[in-house]
Amino acid sequence: DDLGDEQIGIITAHFGQQVQVESPDGESRRCHFRATLEQLVVGDRVIWQPPKSEGLGVVVAIEPRETVLKRPDPYGNLKPVAANVEQMLVVFAPLPTPSSTLLDRYLVAAELSEIPATLVLNKADLIDEALRPFIDDMKAMYEQLGYPVMELSAHEPEGLAPLHDALKGKISVFVGQSGVGKSSLVNAVLPEAELDVGDLSANSGLGQHTTVTARLFHLPTGGELIDSPGIREFGLWHISEDELLHGYRELSELAGHCKFRNCSHRNEPGCAFLEAAESGAISEERLDNFYQIADTLDEEGRERYQ
Ligand code: GDP
Ligand code: ZN
Repeated sequence: DDLGDEQIGIITAHFGQQVQVESPDGESRRCHFRATLEQLVVGDRVIWQPPKSEGLGVVVAIEPRETVLKRPDPYGNLKPVAANVEQMLVVFAPLPTPSSTLLDRYLVAAELSEIPATLVLNKADLIDEALRPFIDDMKAMYEQLGYPVMELSAHEPEGLAPLHDALKGKISVFVGQSGVGKSSLVNAVLPEAELDVGDLSANSGLGQHTTVTARLFHLPTGGELIDSPGIREFGLWHISEDELLHGYRELSELAGHCKFRNCSHRNEPGCAFLEAAESGAISEERLDNFYQIADTLDEEGRERYQ
């Protein structure tokens, strides 16, 4: 028929019943997909056939995913939102006042998704002498755990080299609390023209009525960014306390070393967590956050199933 040979490609946008597929040489076309395929998401690597002239191509197969970013839908079912993300940039700032509990929630989600996380402290220009010790303690806590922390200002392009370097050669996402400067950072690394989605609907003849859930952008300084409002606000889904524990690197190392096999890690004698916090081997703040999040997970679960 009027389709070209099968070739590899990556999903760069999703429009309900259609996807945008790009080949390694940069050819980008609207495609529909075989009904038997599982739900395609941005970042998926696929086998596809481009149209020989006008019209739609077709996605015929999906490659196994390296990583999957998932979010609960309104019914509480986990749904994939992006595939093959290789780096989560967790943004925080002096304003809104940073909360390590909130940062931990993103880091736990990253750990459970097996996506390496880097902390990006934005709005460095707002850190005054009074704030500096608090900010430095927070940075030190995460650096000791092995999470890289970079400090910069979206408003100061000359200081963004570390961010450009971190983005190179990888597929990344920005996540973080509202107001920390995610949009500002996306705008700083992406030329404005890139954000214009008009070109995508131009060759489809289907108009603009389709919703773009997420998009994959090529960064002029190297690397790819997957971005959407949903991904930026990506948070921790409903998980068990055991899963939460495995999202805390230092706690998952201690698990199994308590005196009692069924230790709740709250007040038992010989609890490896309590002893490590006591001796300073692990951060008490992180352990407190773990308890705090464990309590809210129950509430979130109850809310969802009400
Ligand atoms: P988002 O909600 O995370 O996407 O945050 P925005 O990018 O919308 O930024 C929230 C506010 O912080 C806006 O008023 C930005 O102008 C401001 N902002 C972002 N980056 C910086 C920065 O590096 N320094 C300062 N002082 N303000 C910033
Ligand atoms: Zn214990």
